[in-house]
Amino acid sequence: MPSFKTDDLSQCRDPTEASSPQSQSSVVQQFDGNIQTSSSPTPVAVKEDDMFGDEDDDDFEAAADALESKSSSAPSSSAPMVAPISTPPSKTAGLDASDMPIFYQRLMPFKEIFQWLNHFPSPTTSFTNREFAFTLQNDAYLRYQSFPTSDAFKKEVNRLLPSRFEIGPVYSANPRDRKIVRKTAFRPLEKELVFDIDMTDYDDVRTCCKGTDICSKCWNFITVAIRVIDQALREDFGFQHVLWVYSGRRGAHAWVCDKRARTLDDSKRRAVASYFEVLKGGAQSSKRVNLKRPLHPFVARSLNILRDSFKDTILIGQDPWRTQESAEKLLSLLPDRELNDALRKKWASSGDRSSLQKWADIDALAEQGVSRTLDPTHLLEAKQDVILEYLYPRLDAEVSKHLNHLLKSPFCVHPGTGRVCVPINGERPETFDPMDVPTAGMLTAEINEWDMVHKTLDSPEREKLSDYEKTSLKPYVEYFHRFVSGLMKEEMKQKRQREAESSGSLDF
Ligand SMILES: [Zn+2]
Repeated sequence: MPSFKTDDLSQCRDPTEASSPQSQSSVVQQFDGNIQTSSSPTPVAVKEDDMFGDEDDDDFEAAADALESKSSSAPSSSAPMVAPISTPPSKTAGLDASDMPIFYQRLMPFKEIFQWLNHFPSPTTSFTNREFAFTLQNDAYLRYQSFPTSDAFKKEVNRLLPSRFEIGPVYSANPRDRKIVRKTAFRPLEKELVFDIDMTDYDDVRTCCKGTDICSKCWNFITVAIRVIDQALREDFGFQHVLWVYSGRRGAHAWVCDKRARTLDDSKRRAVASYFEVLKGGAQSSKRVNLKRPLHPFVARSLNILRDSFKDTILIGQDPWRTQESAEKLLSLLPDRELNDALRKKWASSGDRSSLQKWADIDALAEQGVSRTLDPTHLLEAKQDVILEYLYPRLDAEVSKHLNHLLKSPFCVHPGTGRVCVPINGERPETFDPMDVPTAGMLTAEINEWDMVHKTLDSPEREKLSDYEKTSLKPYVEYFHRFVSGLMKEEMKQKRQREAESSGSLDF
């Protein structure tokens, strides 16, 4: 299996260049009493700066306003142990401010998040010098937050009740001390390598939905993108710990957590981002794929993945060339004028042909010999380019290029949809359906329902269960738990190796 070592990344080949194939190779802690909701946060707020970049920010702001206007309906500040939760169970979408304290208190997997970022059971600087940024319900944005322990982190989140929080880099000093240490002593050291895929970037090829809406048809764009990127991260770069997370509305994030990925500097991150950059130019560009042949092995392999989904996702799911006007877009990507003329004529005379039929017409007419000038190889390559143009992953590359870019944490609740930003199994992304993801309101209702049904159960029996285990959040928390365990195991193994090497015990 070919893989680049970290040091090789800055030289990694641009996949848009030609290449010969040989050249590349609970959680949730038990509810512990009071749900505190009445204290309104009063920290010093700073406005978000340019590092605050994420999908859905537009909807987020409106939702945050709505959230604040509802905040007076929060539940009472004290509640008995495992008390019924007074939130309407019927709510399935959107977010009620009163859901947040319950979610943070009883469902957010703080311990796992701590272990995920810390890599060891007890706090290290990987956690204590890590920047968190909170967006409060009044839209204030607090950067450079940091915590000595998982409990301190949980306590502060429960006090501030942020509408979301983001994760930044580990710094060379505690982020809270940044103003008292020398400027040169405060610099970012490491952070997961991250990727951001957002449906907005597919708007020019998406016909089923608009704006913030999504459906299972267009979610296929994200599923295919995960498959392509995940495979390349593992096979081409040799990374093993790749966490995919639903962004809560219409996208997904990848967090590459291997130590080798976390310590990449900006130039290496840029090299990785450019490795994945196959589409050039924006949505308005006439042709975004300009690849030399033979294709780079990464592009050739990606094309095989895309080809499998092209019929269902594009030809049937989006049907982008049904009208005569939209079919001109397809013709503009094909190389032969005489063939195009024949296709145009056929489509004009036979009215309402679907994209699936039109795609088949290309080869059918070519084989009939309607063009004397047609070069079959050029046509084949043009069709490959069309598949890439419509289906190749569209990444927000800026997110990946900077060590100090902040990204929304897994298990935050999207303020617009109320859905939890749950992990997606990168090995089987097709099993993930964003419509199945629970909202904070649904989870509250599920806890209530479980408690009602099991109220005759002995108290010790009941208390054995964490609240997330009573809800549809359970499989997601368990997946995250397994992911974090695998990562911690590897970190501890590496640490033991380093210690053994430095003590010379391998030398006898
Ligand atoms: Zn759709």
